[in-house]
Amino acid sequence: MTVELQANPQLKFTESTQKLLCCPVCKSQLKISSSQLECTNYQCQAAFPIINKTPVLINDNQSVFAISDYQGQDSTILKAKPKIERALINLIPSITLNLKAKKNYKKFAELVKAQNPNPRVLIIGGSIVGEGMEPLLSAPEIELVETDVSFGEKISVVCDAHDIPFADNSFDGVVVQAVLEHVADPYRCVEEIHRVLKADGLVYAETPFIAQVHLGKYDFTRFTHLGHRRLFRKFEEIDNGAVCGPGTALAWSYQYFLLSFFKSSVARALVKVFARITSFWLTYFDYLIIDNPGSFDAALGYYFIGKKSEKTIADRELINLYRGTQSSSF
Ligand SMILES: [Zn+2]
Repeated sequence: MTVELQANPQLKFTESTQKLLCCPVCKSQLKISSSQLECTNYQCQAAFPIINKTPVLINDNQSVFAISDYQGQDSTILKAKPKIERALINLIPSITLNLKAKKNYKKFAELVKAQNPNPRVLIIGGSIVGEGMEPLLSAPEIELVETDVSFGEKISVVCDAHDIPFADNSFDGVVVQAVLEHVADPYRCVEEIHRVLKADGLVYAETPFIAQVHLGKYDFTRFTHLGHRRLFRKFEEIDNGAVCGPGTALAWSYQYFLLSFFKSSVARALVKVFARITSFWLTYFDYLIIDNPGSFDAALGYYFIGKKSEKTIADRELINLYRGTQSSSF
């Protein structure tokens, strides 16, 4: 017997989306019970708290985050930078120039609306509004289901991308921008993205290549352009390329080189100010070189827009997709 999750007006999603929620441990249906969601699978019996209208659907045995991390508090697990550092940084030019996100989101929004006039899109890592995401946020016909490992005003479920708590074939689109470097097993996360997408569902990803550690201990992996394509090997390519170019990568490298001399937070904040004022102009070279073959060897990061496919690109096929300038001799 299957038990359907009764719609709960307290939760932050539509009734039809609530019905797609599932147990992150065993993927069985959930039932609501007072202030928690419970797995209907007798052998699993996992329970998940609802805190400030937000269910915490974390697989407690697998995730780097524990359900107990969220209980008794409504703050975020990933803390914002100290106020003094943020205030200083906002006063000075940025050394990150994303030349593609806005155009890509516009394209993604059009494609997803062409698949379904009222599409449902899952945003993984939504507690910080993604660079260039406005075309998606301003389309009222798109239902956005924003998730993250932290609470947030727009976050409707706290979950971990390794175990997405939604049934198979739930979404018309999935957005994962600057997230896959922060997960322990990006291949598993992309498997999960593939699973929750409908047939022909679309993915938009941005993932860094030449970028130094950010978010401290929650930073694990980088991808070359081909490595990123391989990560999405079960998707048909619609578009891909560099999102922030070699100029941005150089500005980041310069800043982190200077930072490596200093330990104190005050000195490091001052070094960041100095580094940004003296190197922001390097990012402007990206306007000239972002689409050059050399960018496929040296960009700060890459994007991928793809469609869920049943076919997997073989590695032998993959190497023919190399678009950089390097020969394969030593
Ligand atoms: Zn379960």
